Amino acid sequence: MKEKMKSRSYLASAFGCRCPRCREGKLFKNSVSFRFKKTMEMNKDCPVCGQATEIEVGFYYGTSYVSYALTVAISVATLVAWYVIIGMSTSDNRFFYWLGFNAVFLILLQPWLMRLSRSLWISWFVKYDPYWKEHKPEDVSERMNPDQANNW
Ligand SMILES: [Zn+2]
Repeated sequence: MKEKMKSRSYLASAFGCRCPRCREGKLFKNSVSFRFKKTMEMNKDCPVCGQATEIEVGFYYGTSYVSYALTVAISVATLVAWYVIIGMSTSDNRFFYWLGFNAVFLILLQPWLMRLSRSLWISWFVKYDPYWKEHKPEDVSERMNPDQANNW
């Protein structure tokens, strides 16, 4: 008998930084804050289903591209919002006010953006398994075995 878990949608899971396999466990140990080291501390395995969060060494190197893309998307969004709500003109400095606002806004969002990038990244590699309770997580010990890494 297979019992399907009632679960989060993909987006709720990715934006909530949940494990992509069970969509339950939290990827990060602590809640988001400006203490970067604490903010980026991840659970080694999903506390709920045991999915490894670092699938291979250097798994998260590619996330800088994701956070760059998110940064660009957010900048475009604030630019459009600024244009609509406040307006822009070549005869005053409103464009530069937007630049300043956007810079501060992005800095404030940074901890959250970095986490979201990782959450999105892993969600593209690890498939959601509604029956995670009955399956074992994919064995990644071969690639993550520290003894093997030392032999390189
Ligand atoms: Zn999980």
